[in-house]
Amino acid sequence: MSGTAQIGVTGLAVMGRNLARNFARNGLTVAVHNRTAAKTRALVEEFGDEGTFVPAESAEEFVAALERPRRLMIMVKAGDPTDAVIQEFAPLLEEGDVIIDGGNAHFADTRRREKELRERGIHFVGVGVSGGEEGALHGPSIMPGGSPKSYESLGPLLERIAAKAPDGARTVAHIGPDGAGHFVKMVHNGIEYADMQLIAEAYHLLRSVAGYSPAQIAETFRTWNTGRLDSYLIEITAEVLAHTDEATGKPFVDVVVDQAEQKGTGRWTVQIALDLGVPVSGIAEAVFARAVSGHAALREASRGLPGPTARPLDAAEAARFADQVEQALYASKIVSYTQGFHQIRAGSDEYGWDVDLGSVAAIWRAGCIIRAAFLDRIRAAFDARHDLPSLLSDKQFAEEIGAAQDDWRAVVATAAVQGVPTPGFSAALSYYDALRAERLPAALTQGQRDFFGAHTYRRTDREGSFHTLWGGDR
Ligand code: NAP
Repeated sequence: MSGTAQIGVTGLAVMGRNLARNFARNGLTVAVHNRTAAKTRALVEEFGDEGTFVPAESAEEFVAALERPRRLMIMVKAGDPTDAVIQEFAPLLEEGDVIIDGGNAHFADTRRREKELRERGIHFVGVGVSGGEEGALHGPSIMPGGSPKSYESLGPLLERIAAKAPDGARTVAHIGPDGAGHFVKMVHNGIEYADMQLIAEAYHLLRSVAGYSPAQIAETFRTWNTGRLDSYLIEITAEVLAHTDEATGKPFVDVVVDQAEQKGTGRWTVQIALDLGVPVSGIAEAVFARAVSGHAALREASRGLPGPTARPLDAAEAARFADQVEQALYASKIVSYTQGFHQIRAGSDEYGWDVDLGSVAAIWRAGCIIRAAFLDRIRAAFDARHDLPSLLSDKQFAEEIGAAQDDWRAVVATAAVQGVPTPGFSAALSYYDALRAERLPAALTQGQRDFFGAHTYRRTDREGSFHTLWGGDR
C-alpha cells in the first residue's frame, strides 16, 4: 500500500522540525515521525496549519504514509543514531526507495551506508544542510550526494525548500556520488571556522592595536559589510559587537568567557586534508586557535611570559590601520577559500566524484553560514575555467590579493611587534608567499632526508632519483 506524502522526515528536533515545516509550507505533503512521539504531536499541534502533515507514531505507519518511490529523510543525531534509524527503516523499504541523511555525517560513514544500501537496491543520499535552524525553515543551502538517479527523484523537492541566491537560482545542486555532499558540507564548515577566526583576529587587532571600542568596531564592520567583505558572518559580527549585556551594561563580548568550543566538522576537515596532503593551513589554524583558547590552565600558567608594551595609535593612525586590517582580512579570506576549494578538488579526484567547483560556489551564495557576495565571483572564476588550478590563478583574485599584499604584510608585522596573535592572517600570508616563491627550502629538506635515511632526491638538471654517499661514520 502506498501513502500520499511526497517526503517523510524522521527526527524532529530543531533541524528536522524546521525542514519538515519548510517542505509543508512549500506545498508538499510531509509525513513526520520522531522516536519520542510527543515531538511529532507537538509539531502538528503547533504548526499543523502551515501545510499538510501526516503524523506517524510507528516506523510502519511512517513508511506506509509515503508515496512510492519513498523519500525518507533522517534528521537525527549524527553517528550511531543514524545507523540505528537506518536499521529500523531499511527492512520496511523497497527497491528504488530513497533514504536521505540530512545530518552532519562524516563522509566516510556516508560512503559506507550508501554502499550497503545500494546492495539492497535502496538509494542512500547524504545531504549537507547549512544555515542552522533559521536556514532549515526559511531556505538552507543544500549539498546532496548520492546517485544521479536519486537526485532525479529528490532534486525537485529540495529545490522547493532551498534558499534563493541574488540571481534567483536555488542554492541546491547535485554534488556527486555517495559521500560527495557530506564532504563538501564538511569543507564548508572548515571554511566557516577559518572565516570566523579571521574576523576574530581583525577584531582583536582593532581593539588592541587601534584601541577601538566594541561599538566602534561594530561600526567598522558595518562599513566593511557594504563593500567586498559583504557577508553574513561580517553582518552578524557587527550585531554581536554592538550588543550590550543587560545585567552589567558592559559590551556583551566582554562578559563572555573567551574559550571557543567546537563540534568537530572543522577538525574533520583538517584530518581529511592531512590524509589527502592538501595544505589547509587557514582552517587548521582556526581549529587550533579554538583549542588554544580552551586550555584555560595552560593560558593561566603562561600569563607572566614577557611581551611587548602596546603603543597607542592616534585617531588618524588608527583609521589608517583599520583600512590595512580590511585589506589583510580580505586577502586572508581569499586564501581560505583557495585552500577549501583545493581540498574539494582533491577529494573529488580521490573518490572520482567529478565535483563542479563553480556550482559549489553558486550554492553557497545564500542560505548558508559562509554566504558572501564574493562567492559570485568565485563561481564565475571556476565557471570560466573548470580546470583553474587555484583561485589565486584567477586574474581578478590575483590582482586583488596583489593590491592588498603591502597592507597585509604591514598588519602581520604590526601584530608580531605588538604581540597580538594572528595565526590565521599569518598562515594565509605564508601560504601565499610559499606559492609565489621561485625556490622553496624543501630542497634542503630533501637533502636532510637523503642524509639520514637515504630517501633519495630528484635533481633540477636531470631526470631520475638520486642518492648521495654522505661522508662520516653514522
Ligand atoms: P540533534 O540534537 O542532533 O538530534 C536530536 C534528534 O535525534 C531527536 O529527534 C532525537 O529523538 C533523535 N535521536 C537521537 N538518538 C536517536 C536514536 N538512537 N534513534 C532515533 N532517534 C534518535 O538534532 P538537530 O540539532 O536538529 O540536528 C539534527 C541533525 O542535523 C544532526 O545530525 C546535526 O548534526 C545536523 N545539523 C544540525 C544543525 C544545527 O544547526 N543544529 C545544522 C546542520 C546540520 P528524540 O526526540 O526521541 O530524543
